[in-house]
Order: sequence, then C-alpha cells, then structure tokens
Amino acid sequence: MDSNIVWHTHEVDRSFREQQQGHRSCVLWFTGLSGSGKSTIANEVEKQIAYAGNRTYTLDGDNVRHGLNKGLTFSDEDRIENIRRVSEVAKLMCDAGCIVFTAFISPFNEEREKAKQLLGDDYIEVFIDTPLEVCESRDPKGLYKKARSGEIKNFTGISSDFEAPENAQIHIKTDGKSVSECAELVINHLRNNQILK
Ligand code: ADP
Repeated sequence: MDSNIVWHTHEVDRSFREQQQGHRSCVLWFTGLSGSGKSTIANEVEKQIAYAGNRTYTLDGDNVRHGLNKGLTFSDEDRIENIRRVSEVAKLMCDAGCIVFTAFISPFNEEREKAKQLLGDDYIEVFIDTPLEVCESRDPKGLYKKARSGEIKNFTGISSDFEAPENAQIHIKTDGKSVSECAELVINHLRNNQILK
C-alpha cells in the first residue's frame, strides 16, 4: 500500500445513510452451484424488499464478468480475483447504505472466508443448496451440457470443485420448494435480525 494514500473520513457516513433511509445495510452472499437458483431467489427477495422501500443492489456473476471483471477466466486463480473484487465492491455498496445481493457460485471456502473477513458482521451467507442432478436437469443456460461434452473447462460440479459451506446463516434446500418459499426464508432472516425497514 502506498504510504502517501491516507484514508479520508467523510462526515456523511454509513450510519447517517442508514438513519436517513430507515434500515440497515448488509451483504447477502449467495453461494451455490450453477443453476441452483441464486439469481432467481435473489431477484425474488430483492423485488419484495425493494418494493417495500428498502434500498437494494444486486451484483450478479455473469453481469460483473461483462464489465469490472471482463478478462478474468474460470481458473482457480482468476475465480479468487473475481470474488476479491466483488467483495470490495459489495463493501462499498454496503457503506453506501444498500442491502447488497451477490450471486456468484463462489465455490471455495477460502474465497468465502476472505469475503467474510472483509465484510465482518455485514456478511450473511446464503447457501442455495440444490443437488447437482437437479441443477443439471434444470440447466437454465445449457452450460452443463457444454461442460459434459468438454466444451467448457473448469465447470463447478463437473470438472471443478464446489466446497459446500458448513456454517451459512441461511441454508436453503430448494428441491421441492417454490421460488417464493425459498425467498420467504431469506426475508424471515432479514426481519428476525431487524435489517429491514
Ligand atoms: P444460478 O443463479 O444459481 O445459476 P438461476 O437462478 O439462474 O441459477 O437458475 C435456477 C433455475 O432453477 C431457474 O430456471 C429457476 O426457475 C429454477 N428453479 C426451480 N425451482 C427453483 C427454486 N425453488 N428456487 C430457485 N430456482 C428454482
């Protein structure tokens, strides 16, 4: 770190913003296999709480790879850099007062642990737990088919590991549940922890 770069404290800070808007900010860190339902559930939760007047923002895996993280591959090293950048952006958005949703596979304990360390108590891990067979049969983006044929390398669940989280604050088994039932589990957690307006 350049020793000439000094952190500046601004008077309009997070607690001011939280008071002004009437709710806390946090990061809902969705993790799970491709096709497990991260984006779908995050979208449903966001819709419900945003319409109820809470400030929200979603950082979506595919979308971020179009811009900020364009050029990063799916090698282990680049996946870690992908998540590091996302964590830093999530931290800024949390400071800006948002309830932030991140929807990234984030398959490794180490990268989730780093995000957790950076975000501290603001980090809420949401494990979207859907069996590989179910994700593969949903295959919403046709990616499993490509991974099985070898067209896509390093595909989580097929040719790259997914280390299931063991202590997620919210653990959702989606198989046999509707999207709205899954969303309700997240919203209940936010209500019970007095995060929402
Ligand atoms: P991810 O973001 O984890 O890659 P997506 O949300 O893009 O996954 O895709 C999940 C797919 O599974 C969607 O087509 C969604 O409609 C379907 N689905 C079926 N049941 C559920 C459920 N209970 N929760 C979430 N998604 C579900």
